[in-house]
Amino acid sequence: MTDILQLVKTKDPNEREFHQAVMEVVVSIKPVMDRNPEYRSAKILERLVEPERVIMFRVAWMDDQGQVNVNRGFRVEMNSAIGPYKGGLRFHPSVNLGILKFLAFEQVFKNALTTLPMGGGKGGSDFDPKGKSDTEVMRFCQAFMSELFRHIGPNTDVPAGDIGVGAREIGFLFGMYKKLANEFTGVLTGKSLNWGGSLIRPEATGYGSVYFASEMLATRNQSLEGKTCLVSGAGNVAQYTMEKLIEMGAKPVTFSDSSGYIYDEKGVDRAKLDFIMELKNIKRGRVKEYAEKYSEAVYTPADPNADHNPLWDHKADCAFPSATQNEINAKDAQNLVNNGVQLVCEGANMPTVPEGIDIFIDNNILYGPGKAANAGGVSVSGLEMTQNSMRMSWTRQEVDDRLKLIMHSIHKTCLEAAEQYGHPGNYMVGANIAGFIKVVNAMLDQGVV
Ligand code: NDP
Repeated sequence: MTDILQLVKTKDPNEREFHQAVMEVVVSIKPVMDRNPEYRSAKILERLVEPERVIMFRVAWMDDQGQVNVNRGFRVEMNSAIGPYKGGLRFHPSVNLGILKFLAFEQVFKNALTTLPMGGGKGGSDFDPKGKSDTEVMRFCQAFMSELFRHIGPNTDVPAGDIGVGAREIGFLFGMYKKLANEFTGVLTGKSLNWGGSLIRPEATGYGSVYFASEMLATRNQSLEGKTCLVSGAGNVAQYTMEKLIEMGAKPVTFSDSSGYIYDEKGVDRAKLDFIMELKNIKRGRVKEYAEKYSEAVYTPADPNADHNPLWDHKADCAFPSATQNEINAKDAQNLVNNGVQLVCEGANMPTVPEGIDIFIDNNILYGPGKAANAGGVSVSGLEMTQNSMRMSWTRQEVDDRLKLIMHSIHKTCLEAAEQYGHPGNYMVGANIAGFIKVVNAMLDQGVV
C-alpha cells in the first residue's frame, strides 16, 4: 500500500492535498485489498489514483476597467465507472491541480455511496469572485465555459457549484453552454428553479449533513434537540446547516468567513440567520457586520500566524466544519475533545487533518467524514439530473424525503462496512470501504480501459 503513496508522491510531488486524500483511502481499504487479491493484479489502485482525463485551459477575460485578466481553468474527470463524471466547480484563488484532484478523488467514493449512478469529477479556477462586479463574474463565467463546454454534457460530465460558485455563477455558466451547444439540457446542476433546477438543491448539503448527524446521535440514543453547535463557514453549506439545526432545536453559536469568525453565545435564531443570508447572498458582505448588528455577538479576526483556530475553542456538543479543507488541525481537534464535543460532522470536504481524525476516533467521538456526511448535495444534484431527464419537477417534500432516505442509507452502509471489516463505529473506514468496493467492482466488470 505504501507503494501507491510513493507512486503518487513521486509522480506529482507538489500535490499535498491529493496525497492526503489518497493516504486516507489507501489505509482504510487495506483489509479489502488483503481479502481480494484480484484487485491487486488488476492494478486497481494504480488506476484509481490516475484521473481518466485532466483538462487545463487559459481563461482570458476583461474587467470593468477594460484590463485583460488571465486565469487558469481546470476540469478533472476522475472516474466514470458508475456514471457520468459529477462534481462541483470551485472558484477560489487557492485552486490548483492538486486541490482539484483531491476533491475529484473524494467525489468518486462519495458519489458511489449515494446509491445514484454518478462518476466523480471536479473543476474550477483560481479566479476570485470576491470583490468583482456581477458583469465581471459574468464575463469570467462566459470565458470559462467557452472552453469547458466541449468537454461536458448531460451524459458525459455534469458540473455543479462549490466554493465561490453559487446560483449566480451557475446561471452565467449555463447561459453560455446553451448558446455554444445550441441545446437546453441538464448539463449543470444547482440551476435556478424556473429553468430546470430542483427544489431543496441549495439546502441539500447542509440539510444532509444535519440528517447524518442525527443518524449518528441516534446510535447513542441522543438527538440534536438542545445541543450547542459550532459551525464554520458562512456560505451555502454553513447557512443551511444552521437552518436545519435551528429547525431541530439545536443552537448554532459560531460561523465564519475567511476574514474571521462570530461567536454568539445566545445562538443564531431564524431572524439572525435571515440577516446572515441576506448579508452573504445578496449584499456579499463579511461576517464582521453581524457583530455590528447584534451587540451580544463577538467578532474575532482571523490570524494567519495562529497555531490553531479559536472558533473550535468554544464549549459545545457538536461541531460542523463547513468552510474548507484542513480547517481543523490537531490542536483544534484536541481542543474540541477537551471542550466536550461528542460529534463532528463534516459539511466541508476534508476539513480535518489526519492527526485530528485520529484524535476524534481515539476519543470515541462520533466522527462523520465529509464523503459521507456532505453527500446530500451531490445526491440532490443526482435527483435534479433525474428530474431533467424525465422533464418533471418533484415537490419540496418529495425531494426532502428522498434526501433523508439517502442519508439514512449512507449512514447504514458506512456502519455495516465498518463492522464487516473489523472497525465497528468507524464511519471513515466504512465510507472508504463501501465506496471503494462499489467503484472497483464496476471497473473490473468493464475491463482494462
Ligand atoms: P461557499 O463559497 O458558499 O462558502 C464557503 C465559505 O467558507 C465562505 O464563508 C468562505 O469565506 C469560507 N472559506 C472558504 N475558504 C476559506 C478559507 N481558506 N478559510 C476560511 N474560510 C474559508 O462554499 P460552500 O458552502 O458551497 O462550500 C463549503 C465547503 O463545503 C467546501 O469544502 C465544499 O467543497 C464543501 N461542499 C460543498 C457542497 C455544495 O453543495 N456546495 C457539497 C459538498 C461539499 P469567504 O467568503 O471569506 O471566502
